[in-house]
Amino acid sequence: MNRRPFRSCGATAALSVALLLSSCAGDAMGVRGTAGGGSAGDPLFPALGNGGYQVRHYGLDLAYDVKKKHLDATAEITAEATKGLRSFQLDLQGLRVSDVRVDGKDAAFSRKGHKLIVRPATGLRKGAEFRTRVNYGGTPQELKDPDGSREGWVKTADGAFVSGEPAGSMTWFPGNNHPDDKATYDFEITVPKGYTAVANGELRSEKTAKGRTTFQWHNGQPMASYLATAGIGRFDVSRSRTPDGLPLYVAVDPAEAKASRKPLERLPEIVKWESGLFGPYPFSSAGAIVDRTPARITWIALESQTKPIYAGAPDTSTVVHEMAHQWFGDSVTPKTWKDTWLNEGFATYAEWLWEEREGGKTPQQQFDALYEDKTDARRWDFPPGDPGTPENVTAPPVYERGAMLLQQLRNAVGDKTFFKILKEWPAKYRYSNADSKEFIAFCQARTDVDLTELFDEWLYAKGRPEQLY
Ligand SMILES: [Zn+2]
Repeated sequence: MNRRPFRSCGATAALSVALLLSSCAGDAMGVRGTAGGGSAGDPLFPALGNGGYQVRHYGLDLAYDVKKKHLDATAEITAEATKGLRSFQLDLQGLRVSDVRVDGKDAAFSRKGHKLIVRPATGLRKGAEFRTRVNYGGTPQELKDPDGSREGWVKTADGAFVSGEPAGSMTWFPGNNHPDDKATYDFEITVPKGYTAVANGELRSEKTAKGRTTFQWHNGQPMASYLATAGIGRFDVSRSRTPDGLPLYVAVDPAEAKASRKPLERLPEIVKWESGLFGPYPFSSAGAIVDRTPARITWIALESQTKPIYAGAPDTSTVVHEMAHQWFGDSVTPKTWKDTWLNEGFATYAEWLWEEREGGKTPQQQFDALYEDKTDARRWDFPPGDPGTPENVTAPPVYERGAMLLQQLRNAVGDKTFFKILKEWPAKYRYSNADSKEFIAFCQARTDVDLTELFDEWLYAKGRPEQLY
């Protein structure tokens, strides 16, 4: 993710998600012992995600009326029970649920905050695969994050800009809304003719009938819910392939086309260069969605899987950053929101390597400038390995000090080992989840240098750390 403020900023009337900060009450169905919990156990966002099952696949069928801002949808969620379940919970913020079926049978359900509590007609055995079908609809409402930014289904003049970090996916589909539960996705999105709907993965079909067009997208590699997107608008679309044959799909709001042209032209080169550094590109397609978002939104870019989203024309280093996340964040995803430095430290370091390639500062010069800079002390506010509060997961220490830690690591282990780590870490944890402890052990196994002090100092110590290497 990347943020920069628009020049004019004003108050927004977005829905508050104070709920996200408090742990959700347990099962409301009165079932003892075998109720799936309403938390994935995240230390910073305890009310996100749920227990008792793991999702394998989401089939999302969405029809969006751009003028009425109305969503009519069905979600079919294939999951595996990780314990015997009499009830389980899904995250869904707002929207009206009309019926829920589990394995084809009507299920009882209730709502509590952003929890949809489902009680199947018959209990689910541990290990059973089960299919939940939720019919729902209404006008999706965006979320306002603890750090003040807007996310979720953000309406634009001609559709929606759909960003999901950390919680926004629940504004448009029910699911297990936590990075630790990754699944494959199929999207079927119907919009008025003339509009384009762009989701993750590859476009399987595009059919127009009776004034409406349906876009089918298939995302075949595991994806965390915060990386799902469904951009809708009047887009200029370009489809091409990289020299290595990777399909590219780029959708740009015409108002942003001119400013986006040069950075996006470099996308094939960026994918190739990053594949050389981080190993084979992890997914079966790539691309971008550049939208024109409402005034007074915080400018963001988010590494939505296969297609980063940009709330306005990006610059080249932002494209480099979001594409680096395809390895660091999307393919290898943190186990909890506490470890976002594993995403942002690497994506920031990728920007540094790119700048050096373009003839600018070296990563060591970037490190030195930040280390000596006295004008902005925010980067020493907290250690990146322990953000402490939800709003801190996107604060400067996670990005800058995270990247500085990597430069210290590079100096400690030497270039050869460091660049091996950049390739082997995403290979080892491809399509799965990892945490800081695993990263430390992974690095330590590749060098004779004792890295204990380095990680203690740069990942966990308070204040401005000591430069060790
Ligand atoms: Zn980022």
